[in-house]
Amino acid sequence: MLALLLVLLAAVLAGVAPRLMARLVSFRRAPRAALVAWQAVSLAAVLAALSAAPAALSYLTELQTGRWVVLGLAAAVTLLVLGRLLLSGHRIGTRLRAARTRHRELVDVLATPEPVTQGERRADGIRVLDHATPTAYCLPGRRSRVVLTQGALAALPSDQLDAVLAHERAHLRGRHDLLIEYFTVLHHSVPGPVRSPEALREVRLLVEALADRAAVRASSPLATARALMALAQGQAPLATLGAGGDGTTAARMRLLAADPMPPVVVAGMYAYAGAVLVLPLALLWLAWR
Ligand SMILES: [Zn+2]
Repeated sequence: MLALLLVLLAAVLAGVAPRLMARLVSFRRAPRAALVAWQAVSLAAVLAALSAAPAALSYLTELQTGRWVVLGLAAAVTLLVLGRLLLSGHRIGTRLRAARTRHRELVDVLATPEPVTQGERRADGIRVLDHATPTAYCLPGRRSRVVLTQGALAALPSDQLDAVLAHERAHLRGRHDLLIEYFTVLHHSVPGPVRSPEALREVRLLVEALADRAAVRASSPLATARALMALAQGQAPLATLGAGGDGTTAARMRLLAADPMPPVVVAGMYAYAGAVLVLPLALLWLAWR
């Protein structure tokens, strides 16, 4: 019955664990470890679902009716998840890249590659849009861009500008877009009744918190917080991306003021990630032993 256990494990990791983990907001103070834990849980859920059919195949030698039912169920879960993963991976990947390419072309036409000075030296690869709303964002990919508006340049003193540029560059360097894309694909691969929006929402926040840390290293917590405020106000009229905007800013401001996580807790978070990842593999190994 290890195949059934794997199906159950997949459902728990995809549906129950994210809801519980999203409540543990104090773990956001260690965003990197928290992101590793979220990745481990989601990967373990996929592994469990994909292992269900192979695990059920292991006892095909004894042909009993009950076992055929289990095999059928396990195969259905494995094939369903595999099919949905491939389909949503293809759809989301294609759509995202096309939208980014379009946006980058637009930015390259509209924006001036204006020299922005960061500290003593000139910062390259920055495009400035002639718009009064203070906004900053990045377009990830091989030909990445950091985009600022004239409004942002006018609103941000140099230390806050350093924070914003460090934040955007942390997104680009860390390929945070791929991480969010991975969770978006997973989110759409999980069948509706088991799906939980918490994972995607939390990962988005953690990625912002991680980039904020780079901003703090480049400037200071105060400059980062002020820059966050300046840009959050600017984004308010454009808040078409939903309720995330203001909620994220408030949570990130709290994180900037929070104490760092004790190392022992961070170690525990990594251990949890490792243990969760080992679980489906151990069950599959037991099935075939
Ligand atoms: Zn960001």
